[in-house]
Amino acid sequence: MSDIPATVASSEPVHRLAILFDIDGTLIISGGAGAASWRMAFDELYGIPADIGQFTDTGMTDPDVGRQTFVAVLHRQPSRAEFAKLLERRLHYLYQTVADSKDYRVLDGVEELLPRLLDEGYLLGIVTGNLEAAAHIKLHRAKLNRFFSFGGYGSDSTDRGELTRIALQRAALVYGEALGPEQCIVVGDTPHDVEGAHGAGIACVGVASHNFNAEQLRAGGADYVIGSLREGLPL
Ligand SMILES: [Mg+2]
Repeated sequence: MSDIPATVASSEPVHRLAILFDIDGTLIISGGAGAASWRMAFDELYGIPADIGQFTDTGMTDPDVGRQTFVAVLHRQPSRAEFAKLLERRLHYLYQTVADSKDYRVLDGVEELLPRLLDEGYLLGIVTGNLEAAAHIKLHRAKLNRFFSFGGYGSDSTDRGELTRIALQRAALVYGEALGPEQCIVVGDTPHDVEGAHGAGIACVGVASHNFNAEQLRAGGADYVIGSLREGLPL
């Protein structure tokens, strides 16, 4: 291998094998179900209907959302037991808030794109700041879980680069072959997704379908920007 000039190797076309999708704002919008479930959990446990939108940003991982909101409304760190209980009550309410959400919807192009990508031989995974259970509760209502055989979640790391690397390792386990970052692409709707992808050495497609427009995603470093998944992916 060492006698092959590096320039030849690097000019070979990249063949992408795996596609990692963010959930909220990329595949679905839950219509506020996530925030409602946190509010109900804080209200039940502490009598405070906490609004995570006041204390956290779109694209943060669930553990960060829970911890920062806890500190903001209770002015101290949660104990280990308090935090575990908070996460449990939040997941408990999330089943209901997702089921009841009037504004829950699958974003444009998703239901056509996912089966087509599988037919074309791509491996599909999830990369999200949601706790693993929360991710699957959100996908379940639209029966989208079945498309994804691996993932990296907010319950794996609060660092999006790290949880994206974990997703890649899981893809390798599931499919029995190593996958390099250059063989993958991340699809997300926020600059946090871009940052996480780049942290793992993976290119990122920004989808300007919900929270951020094309200009903002480009400014956030997205390698490609599309208006919605109806356009397909730049593979
Ligand atoms: Mg998102």
